[in-house]
Amino acid sequence: MAVTEPASAVLPAAQEGILRRQSVRESAARTYARSLPIVPVRARGLTIEGADGRRYLDCLSGAGTLALGHNHPVVLEAIKKVIDSGAPLHVLDLATPVKDAFITELFATLPRELADNARVQFCGPAGTDAVEAALKLVRTATGRSGLLAFTGAYHGMTAGALDASGGAQDVRVTRLPYPYDYRCPYGVGGERGAELSARWTESLLDDPKSGVTSPAGMILEPVQGEGGVIPAPDAWLRRMREITAARSIPLIADEVQTGVGRTGTFWGVEHSGVVPDVMVMSKAIGGSLPLAVLVYRADLDVWQPGAHAGTFRGNQLAMAAGAATLAHVRENRLAERAGVLGARMLGQLRALAADHPCIGDVRGRGLMIGIELVDPDAAERTVTGAPPAAPALAAAVQQECLARGLIVELGGRHSGVVRLLPPLTLTDDQAAAVLDRLADALSAAERSPQRRQRAGQSH
Ligand code: PMP
Repeated sequence: MAVTEPASAVLPAAQEGILRRQSVRESAARTYARSLPIVPVRARGLTIEGADGRRYLDCLSGAGTLALGHNHPVVLEAIKKVIDSGAPLHVLDLATPVKDAFITELFATLPRELADNARVQFCGPAGTDAVEAALKLVRTATGRSGLLAFTGAYHGMTAGALDASGGAQDVRVTRLPYPYDYRCPYGVGGERGAELSARWTESLLDDPKSGVTSPAGMILEPVQGEGGVIPAPDAWLRRMREITAARSIPLIADEVQTGVGRTGTFWGVEHSGVVPDVMVMSKAIGGSLPLAVLVYRADLDVWQPGAHAGTFRGNQLAMAAGAATLAHVRENRLAERAGVLGARMLGQLRALAADHPCIGDVRGRGLMIGIELVDPDAAERTVTGAPPAAPALAAAVQQECLARGLIVELGGRHSGVVRLLPPLTLTDDQAAAVLDRLADALSAAERSPQRRQRAGQSH
């Protein structure tokens, strides 16, 4: 299947019908479908083709799931192989050769210190279920119920994961400051700002009157994704490791979005050399099919049989697609490639910022890139001098990108961050095309009358 072939025979009118029926039949809670009114019928690599024959460069990649882009040949081959073999597709959590091979491949990617002594729990097939499992695991192992989580975090939509995310209010969760240079609450940013957040964490944990519920674990993202693409400084992450280790608090790294080469190393924690006690993994590990696992230190494995069960923990096609993806990323050093290309794209975006005062900050790691849009004309400023976020402008940029055949995601505290999560297979030419379209879209959004009208709506 090549995207250069003619579009499938779905007429634009039929596409309109599908979109109209979606808007009346699907839930009010639908998300991406609102800002991306397209009807994908075919896809390959970076490209999605709509039912109307239009093509799009997909820098959303299934919310960071498609490390190898859409329908990569090694993924399709792995899926076909399982189907042709007559293997069962659904086996609960029984042992199979496909699962055995997946675990071997997964363990080969882990930090050595963890791999030598790790256990894996297959979870229900969503990142949020693996987060639930992680919280249950550490609560069982430590006998404590509190949780340390961070401002701006996103861990999923089920109750426990939601409580761990920024904006939640569970009394057992202690919210700690995640270093956010651009809007540093201490007004200093950089290493100093990160060090001050670490000290706040330390003093809370050691203050008998801090009101902190005794913590069973600390959960963090090596790069906050939904929170606005905010990389944890390496030194700060090492401080979190020291602080938790000194107090026997298991450290849980949520690698759902940062895993499988996305940030320039196979796992996001590798930049800092930190070895967590628990790693939560999903998205790319299933090679585009649903899969979620928890990997943790063997001595935490004291929960009972059935402590975290679920019917769909044995998706053989996802394990085969996932093993093929992990192997392909490892053998082709795609993490390194993501690091090099991502750094170059960040440089180009920073150069673009010089001509666009509405670009407040450009940041990221590897191919996890964020452009924070702001209202430079607003009177108010944060303590770091940052203007307020410009969510209406970000939404306009997303729409102008779509009109130019580019799919981007929004995130950040006020949805003011334009996010790029392209596949790790992105070529230099494709990267240039993405940045050209983005720059053009940005100029158009800045000029648009709608934007001028909404200027007063910035947060
Ligand atoms: N953790 C992180 C870091 C995520 O980015 C996400 C999804 N965006 C989740 C957990 C939840 O994963 P899922 O949507 O598969 O439940």
